Amino acid sequence: MSTRQLAMVIDLNKCIGCQTCTLACKSQWTDRGGREFMYWNHVETKPGKGYPRDWEAAGGGWEGDSLKPGKLPRLAEDYGVPADFNYEAALFEPGDQPLRPLDAMQWGPNWEEDQGAGEFPNGYFFYLPRLCNHCTKPACLAACPRQAIYKREQDGIVLIDQERCRGYRYCVAACPYKKIYFNPLAGKSEKCIFCYPRVEKGIPQACAYQCVGRARHVSYLDDIEGAAHQLVNVWKVALPLHAEYGTQPNVYYVPPLSPPTFDADGKPTGQPRIPDDYLQQLFGPGVESALATLQQEIDKKTRGESSPLMDLLIAYRHGDMFRLSRPDGVTP
Ligand code: SF4
Ligand code: SF4
Repeated sequence: MSTRQLAMVIDLNKCIGCQTCTLACKSQWTDRGGREFMYWNHVETKPGKGYPRDWEAAGGGWEGDSLKPGKLPRLAEDYGVPADFNYEAALFEPGDQPLRPLDAMQWGPNWEEDQGAGEFPNGYFFYLPRLCNHCTKPACLAACPRQAIYKREQDGIVLIDQERCRGYRYCVAACPYKKIYFNPLAGKSEKCIFCYPRVEKGIPQACAYQCVGRARHVSYLDDIEGAAHQLVNVWKVALPLHAEYGTQPNVYYVPPLSPPTFDADGKPTGQPRIPDDYLQQLFGPGVESALATLQQEIDKKTRGESSPLMDLLIAYRHGDMFRLSRPDGVTP
């Protein structure tokens, strides 16, 4: 049990799918050494099968107090092996050869970029950034027979002790979000470390700090001034992803609003493009009142009235999005 829990809130109305967070993470932590296929942070287009492919149908998590069986994703079919490209031919040989992958790829991160659902003119999609949720009841930790996975007391970050890990991969199967990866070169499992070396210096995670859309807020859940507490507990507009998996995730999402559908005469119906039941599948029954609160506060702002919720989500000052106490007590 941790005394404090660091949490992240991602506002899906501000995520533009630019993948800056993905690259910020990849270049810092997973660009070599058997980690080439790993994305500790990635952004998938919803609705879609995501990365690894069909992760929502792969099981894992909890059923009451018992672990639910889960599947291991396959390297080529579900993650996608990073492709080599015909650089030599495209750059140095005569002719006008386009840059192409040398092997046929079957899947990969961001494979379904911007692929929507629904019929014209009512198609829709949105972006869903995903990373380890540093869960309060982590299925990965419970599944490890070596007790190699632990949750830090001071901030709730879930880590794998690389000395203890033997690469059995029970954790990979147990995580319902499929956010632990097996490193075939090291023979060990690896995952998002919530940038703990940065956090310990009072610097936010690379994915959050570099976010172009200013979509990510980071603070401790017991910090009542912090955005996480405000958005999750006070305004109740930030919700966990697939709470029914039972791991009690600590990454929360402000659900996406969407424009109205059009009827056969091209008139707006007042119904949102993204179906309510799909959002409920992802974010649970609280999504309806979260969206209503968001719309109500947007309307206030549009009328020129004040809205502390909108001010928080707009994030006028970049530094206000992050509240991480440094050892000297200073909040950056
Ligand atoms: Fe473990 Fe998965 Fe939860 Fe991360 S998201 S703590 S890997 S169960
Ligand atoms: Fe979305 Fe921010 Fe990541 Fe860009 S950097 S994809 S806006 S979460």
